[in-house]
Amino acid sequence: MKILVANIGSTSLKWRLFDFSDNAERLLHKGGFERVTDYPKAIEDCLAQLKEAGAIASESDLAAVGFKTVLAKDVTGCVRLDDRVLGAMEAYNGLAPAHNPPYITGIRLFAKRMPGVPLVGLFETAFYQFAPPAMMRYAVPRGWYEIGVRRFGFHGASHKFIAERSAEMLDREDVAERARNLYRDGAKDGVSGGDLRVISCHLGGSSSITGIRNGVAIGNSLGMSPQSGLPHNNRVGDLDAEAIPYAVKTLGISIEEAQRQLTKESGLKGVSGVSNDIRDIATAAEQGNADAQLGLDLLVSEARRWIGGYFFQLNGADAIVFTAGIGENRASIRAGICANLDQLGIELDDELNNAAQGREAVISKPGSKVKVLVIPTNEELVVARETRRLLERN
Ligand code: ADP
Repeated sequence: MKILVANIGSTSLKWRLFDFSDNAERLLHKGGFERVTDYPKAIEDCLAQLKEAGAIASESDLAAVGFKTVLAKDVTGCVRLDDRVLGAMEAYNGLAPAHNPPYITGIRLFAKRMPGVPLVGLFETAFYQFAPPAMMRYAVPRGWYEIGVRRFGFHGASHKFIAERSAEMLDREDVAERARNLYRDGAKDGVSGGDLRVISCHLGGSSSITGIRNGVAIGNSLGMSPQSGLPHNNRVGDLDAEAIPYAVKTLGISIEEAQRQLTKESGLKGVSGVSNDIRDIATAAEQGNADAQLGLDLLVSEARRWIGGYFFQLNGADAIVFTAGIGENRASIRAGICANLDQLGIELDDELNNAAQGREAVISKPGSKVKVLVIPTNEELVVARETRRLLERN
């Protein structure tokens, strides 16, 4: 069974093709295009590459195309992307303007190009469906809650992968099994029971932190939209609710302009004034740019705030995991986040930390009560597995 996972950005198309034949999981092909201006052509070129590589003979070899969809009104989990679901995604375009519109356009183009191939979405919100209500509620009036003003949480595919893989690395196959089958079986005994506590730090272009008990998420630092939680590359993260009306009035800008600035000119880019890429910011900081240093310090400080919150909620942690572009590759950010925590049983090994770069590693000292791990995420694999499960169930 061959499943293509398509990752759609506003100007990019990336893909991975998995083969699940003979009870194995094989990555057959991966590729992508940046700076896409003609999406139908990009899809055509993707199919041509798959054929050229001998991965498929024609698109009818694809059992399905899976998508890491972000959020939809009143829909979560892993579902067929029919008109109803696309409409539900459209209803939340305003909450995820950088994600939902390109996905909807891309999915429609795939549907047109290969009408016989099922299209399936695994929503990024799915991992939080079992989180305790108090972790997901904003203290807004009932009417606001009823129209959907609540925390949803995102990066679900990535954090779910970390839940599975960290349990395997910690020799807890029971928990890994539970995490793998979470969407099939549900969180049978809620988030209680058992005792494996993991804090997963997805630090990348957009960043989030999740507390995980026995393979089940108890919450996520991203809230109602991907515009919350930690500072992101160019999005602000958490912000006081009064800040927008105050800035609109004082700066004399429109709400739309305020939103644009908070989603395009803020975060690490806004604070550093340098770039939205942490490599450039780190270089500037090394050359003495104080604003660049502040941007790095802010990311570290906010990460510690959220890790600390989950550490308390979970009554400690067995492991803290770093993943995604920054988490996998930036030893200095990991060191900053884990600094001076020996009283909590968190002791990073500098040598192991500096050596860990884009591959699985334990980076805590052998005696550290809390293990610190680096795990490259594999969101596409999670999407492919759930897509396969949906096809087999139907
Ligand atoms: P996205 O969230 O857009 O998928 P990534 O997870 O790739 O993005 O994270 C992007 C961030 O990770 C950027 O700030 C980039 O500088 C950093 N990053 C990615 N790869 C590396 C690397 N090899 N070395 C250092 N930093 C990296």
